[in-house]
Amino acid sequence: MDQKKRLEKARIQLLINNPFFGHLANYFQFKENKTIKGPIATKNKTIYYNPKNTTQYNNEELQTSIAHVIMHTALGHDWRQGNRNKKIWDTSTDQAVNHLLNASNFTLPKQTELKANFKDKSAEEIYAELKKQIKEKNNKNQDKKQPNQKQIKEKNNQYKGASLENKIDSHETWEKTTKKQQKNNQEEWKRRMTEAAKHAEKEGQLPGTIERKVKKTTKPKINWRHQLRRYIIQHARDDYNWMRPNRRLLQYNIYYPSARNEKLEIAVAIDTSGSISQNQLETFLSEVKEILNYTDNYKIILIACDAKIQNYREITSEETTNINKTIQKFAENIKGGGGTKYSPVLEKLKNKQINALIYLTDGKCNEKLKKPKYDVIWAISQQGTTERINFGKKIQINTEN
Ligand SMILES: [Zn+2]
Repeated sequence: MDQKKRLEKARIQLLINNPFFGHLANYFQFKENKTIKGPIATKNKTIYYNPKNTTQYNNEELQTSIAHVIMHTALGHDWRQGNRNKKIWDTSTDQAVNHLLNASNFTLPKQTELKANFKDKSAEEIYAELKKQIKEKNNKNQDKKQPNQKQIKEKNNQYKGASLENKIDSHETWEKTTKKQQKNNQEEWKRRMTEAAKHAEKEGQLPGTIERKVKKTTKPKINWRHQLRRYIIQHARDDYNWMRPNRRLLQYNIYYPSARNEKLEIAVAIDTSGSISQNQLETFLSEVKEILNYTDNYKIILIACDAKIQNYREITSEETTNINKTIQKFAENIKGGGGTKYSPVLEKLKNKQINALIYLTDGKCNEKLKKPKYDVIWAISQQGTTERINFGKKIQINTEN
């Protein structure tokens, strides 16, 4: 059978089996291209297919493949790469999309590898984790010798997409776009996805909703690390207005961050009034270090404060010193034991250009405070209370997970 006809047929089946993806697929046109490496690839609203390669797929797999490439486009994977390494980014976006499809009951082509711990994560989050794994591997291989930037780059280039197989598409048709185009694409696809979800709902296809409901009732408390990371990542790209996934898109586990390599500027304050244990402080700070893996471009302000500021330190990504050591040193030199006040910290940050303040505290502060211009994320210690906090996000830190 003509391969184009097979694809058209698969699209119609998609519309019946998975209306959300089927509706999105309708925005694309199929075009033969014998030079692409994989069976299919997208560029803007064109789905290229290589007839030599599409023959290996049965109808079900073709539907999955179409859904795969349109999700790359819909989620902006083609332009969200930024300065990231192409190979690692390719793997990250494939893992993100395939997990999403897997959760929507698609049959993934044989030999598609899904890494369980990347479930429910965005491409950016997966990228950060892969990068970290590579770094650790490199450090081990380098025999304590500090590799220079060039060596790291070479290593990363050698790194064949985290050795996770993708037989669907090869992403070679993805193009760099201008910021204006990115913004337009983003708005356009968000609108389309919302529309498609609306259609799917009307047609009574709500597997996602049911799944989510079940999840809500059976899933234990959300891991605080995960929560914290999400807030941070969203602040790293603040100028686009974080695209919060709406209720409809959430059914499909679609998490849609706008992503450009913006500078992450945050303040991290630690309440040293005495009720935060050393263990909690270390857990929290190690998480802060983790977060810095998500970006190569940051400025972080560290403040220790009880009733007054005890320690203050600014770190930027340009600094050549070892960040881990700096944070460690900061933690070791924390003094405190006085009463709890947040106002000295807010006062100190008054004229600072920060996206967010993350405050590790037990929440036991009696001051009346005005909400600052930037966002505040309260990381509440295990024995702490959230009762007296009247603005910002609250995350309960649990050292057990
Ligand atoms: Zn792909």
